[in-house]
Amino acid sequence: MNILLVDDEPFVLKLLVRQLNNLGFERVVACDSAEAALTRLRSADAPVDMVFSDLQMPQMDGVEFVRHLVQMGYHGALVLISGEDRRILQTAERLARAHRLRVVGTLTKPVSPAQLQQVLEAGREVVAPADRVQGRSYEAAELARAIADGELENYFQPKVNPASGEVAGVEVLVRWHHPRDGLVMPVQFIPMAEEQGLIDGLTQVVLVDALHQARQWQDDGMPLHIAVNVSMDSLAALEFADFVADEVARAGLPMNHLVLEVTESRLMKDPLASLDILARLRLKRIGLSIDDFGTGHSSLAQLRDIPFSELKVDYGFVHGAWRDASLQAIFEASLGVARQLGMKTVAEGVEDRDDWDFLRARGCDLAQGFFIGRPMPAAELPEWMAQWEARRRDLDLPPT
Ligand code: C2E
Ligand code: MG
Ligand code: MG
Repeated sequence: MNILLVDDEPFVLKLLVRQLNNLGFERVVACDSAEAALTRLRSADAPVDMVFSDLQMPQMDGVEFVRHLVQMGYHGALVLISGEDRRILQTAERLARAHRLRVVGTLTKPVSPAQLQQVLEAGREVVAPADRVQGRSYEAAELARAIADGELENYFQPKVNPASGEVAGVEVLVRWHHPRDGLVMPVQFIPMAEEQGLIDGLTQVVLVDALHQARQWQDDGMPLHIAVNVSMDSLAALEFADFVADEVARAGLPMNHLVLEVTESRLMKDPLASLDILARLRLKRIGLSIDDFGTGHSSLAQLRDIPFSELKVDYGFVHGAWRDASLQAIFEASLGVARQLGMKTVAEGVEDRDDWDFLRARGCDLAQGFFIGRPMPAAELPEWMAQWEARRRDLDLPPT
């Protein structure tokens, strides 16, 4: 495993390198500033599997460093270290998780060998061989060609009703089969597509293909709702609502079988146009979901302005909420707001049995996460359905 350490205190660095070497980890690079670490991470010849970062550093602090990791699409494991109070560490951890970084643990100084061993093991689990291609960024031209050549594939992740076990629908998550790098995840190309004006073309391909698939499933006796992620940027073109409705009609599906998931990841280019389009989509009975709710991108102001039909509580407030009072408070509040506004609630990031039991007790409408089913190619869905039915008893779900 290639490990990178960032800490401004030379003594701490030296000690950590020694501890890691003693545990058999030889490929360790130590950086005395976040800037140096970023330079190191950007050099393509040194893919890093695990980053250990201090929070308190003089120029760029750990929180800002984390933001840069997100921007560069870092996909390895992350460990946060601090001599500060545990709550700061917890907040930084939550922030990193909300950005979908894979935080495998937090360490408080002085770091004990046992603590270190534990995070290293967690790190090993997270860093699967497929993820070793990381930090790599792509050129717009390359993505444009990939879209044209059909290198994008839709994966589908089930959304289930936690009370009845019914499979209500699937979320469409795009993947890129890169000829050289293998399977590339959306964090590595969606932000670039948004910046470089490729997102509309991408959304069209994803949407049309997903609708086609949904129609096929319906013909096979599996009438599933489909949820497609739409960038706020696509909601600036006034034709968008008509385009979507035409495609749903062309696929021969009811309008309410499509849900568009929206996150306000960047400022709305043209807020009035976006509101116009969103309102018209709702009038056409197409579902609108506010994604990643609670992360600061998706805020209360949006709930006031936009007629959403569904609220997705971000994974950061779902996973582990059963044992964390502050997460529970946010989770409950989000459900409360949604109910008062007559919206459906979806919890994402249900990763284990504890999360599942917690949700069932709280009465959320739909649940989604690795514990239920991972995003998968369309062909694997029927097999997953059969397995899901077989898990009913074990998951305390009523028989069908
Ligand atoms: P999202 O819409 O919030 O999608 C959920 C992400 O969480 C997916 O990551 C999914 O694989 C992951 N996930 C699902 N269950 C769990 C779980 O139990 N634990 C954890 N830790 N993660 C879970 P993915 O597929 O990498 O997608 C990342 C983001 O990329 C999506 O976040 C979405 O915002 C964006 N994206 C994906 N496909 C598209 C697309 O076609 N168009 C646009 N504009 N954005 C897309
Ligand atoms: Mg989504
Ligand atoms: Mg989300």
